[in-house]
Amino acid sequence: MANITEAEIRKIVENILKGSAASSTASYSSTEYNGRKLIGIYADMNEAIEMAEKGYRAVRAMSVEQREKIITEIRRLTLEEAPIMAEIGVAETGMGRVDHKRLKHILVAEKTPGTEDIVAEAKTGDNGLTLTEMAPFGVVGSITPSTNPSETVICNSIGMIAAGNGVVFNPHPNAIATSNYAVDLVNRASATAGGPEVLVCSMVKPTLETASIMQTHPKIRLLVCTGGPGVVRAVLSSGKKAIGAGAGNPPVIVDDTADIRKAGKDIIDGCSFDNNLPCIAEKEVFAFRNIADQLIAEMQKNGAYLITREQADKLAPIVLKEVTNKAGKTVKTVARDCVGRDAAVLLAKIGINVGPEIRCIICETDFNHDFVQHELMMPILPIVRVDEIEEAIELAVKAEHGNRHTAHMHSKNIDHLSAFAKAVETTIFVKNAPSYAGIGFGGEGHTTFTIAGPTGEGITSARSFTRKRRCVMADNFRII
Ligand code: NAD
Repeated sequence: MANITEAEIRKIVENILKGSAASSTASYSSTEYNGRKLIGIYADMNEAIEMAEKGYRAVRAMSVEQREKIITEIRRLTLEEAPIMAEIGVAETGMGRVDHKRLKHILVAEKTPGTEDIVAEAKTGDNGLTLTEMAPFGVVGSITPSTNPSETVICNSIGMIAAGNGVVFNPHPNAIATSNYAVDLVNRASATAGGPEVLVCSMVKPTLETASIMQTHPKIRLLVCTGGPGVVRAVLSSGKKAIGAGAGNPPVIVDDTADIRKAGKDIIDGCSFDNNLPCIAEKEVFAFRNIADQLIAEMQKNGAYLITREQADKLAPIVLKEVTNKAGKTVKTVARDCVGRDAAVLLAKIGINVGPEIRCIICETDFNHDFVQHELMMPILPIVRVDEIEEAIELAVKAEHGNRHTAHMHSKNIDHLSAFAKAVETTIFVKNAPSYAGIGFGGEGHTTFTIAGPTGEGITSARSFTRKRRCVMADNFRII
């Protein structure tokens, strides 16, 4: 953050928005991009961990200033190559929107804290000085999702390197080329800024087996997992220190004191951002009955397409499939070919044809509808009418399913705002803004793509990846 000037950032962002750097004919795989071999990618997890340990040793030997130089170079390359990562991300996963993925990379480059996040604490008293410092763990094993693949790799890398760690990634198999492009970017930045050629590592073919090697390897001192409930459970039962950033299902309450015009626009802006892939994005709305019609009309003015209850019921079994889980129970799970798809693509599945101006599907449902109960990660937004704040809060808390992840509210009534915030207990609570304000996009505060609700680190940053160490100097070293 510190070493790139505002003017430089503006220039890079202008170039990015012109879209000049990306190529739709790029060839990519988990090991190369346009014929260039990606650095730091290994077939064997054990070898990747050994190389990440070498990276860690190199970082340990560096001054903080040197670490910050590498981070500055990561930021610069991320801004420059955002269009490439945005395009591969969409091409490889079939999910999300190129223009929004560019913005997510810009956000990561600009607002992920670096070494300034690492601060020591001093306590002085009659018995001298005690210093508490934030030390690295060593090699961090990081599991990353398909929804924000390169964003998470870069955000994690900046924070983990700033904290003095090495990193080995086991990225999502469906986003491996995009994730490994970002791993290579971090390594190129390291080499350019005088660091080791291989600072962070990843896999040619990540599997559950490579994840398991990572989870049990003695050289991995910290596990950081960004993903759904299954994988978070797996790392939390690994026996190692773990940071778990899990699933959400963020509810939005809109009461009758809200600026309804703004609420309608903000909710559609947030819900449709990157086709609803961000875990913080609005997933279901509880609207006061007396403003619901107006809210729906405002949403329609902002690119929402209203479907009927019958049409919603036709769409539901297409986007949510019944599968038998390991325990032999039938459960509903999101259809992977619908996650992160454009609203027009989803509507076409029920025979409705719309243009690209439609960015979100809205529908009125009751509380028990699948659209309310499941984290869809696609631009479909159910709206449930409620009569009063107590009902709104009760239903919204239930719909959040105890994830304690993210919730939103549009209201000018501070009693309502406080009551919901207290009841829902989420890591992020956004008032009167689109969801992405909660990760520093149009809101104050730093950004992260690893929001650790289950383990409590919250909006992770470099300091989340440190362990505290105390140094005591008894009876001396005070100046008073
Ligand atoms: P996912 O859960 O399908 O996969 C995440 C990663 O875990 C992948 O690398 C996958 O290969 C791996 N994995 C899955 N099961 C595993 C197991 N048992 N052991 C080891 N590794 C395993 O995630 P996804 O679909 O890419 O991402 C979407 C989910 O992640 C959503 O639920 C979303 O809310 C959540 N998410 C949370 C955050 C956050 O910061 N809290 C950020 C992004 C995504």
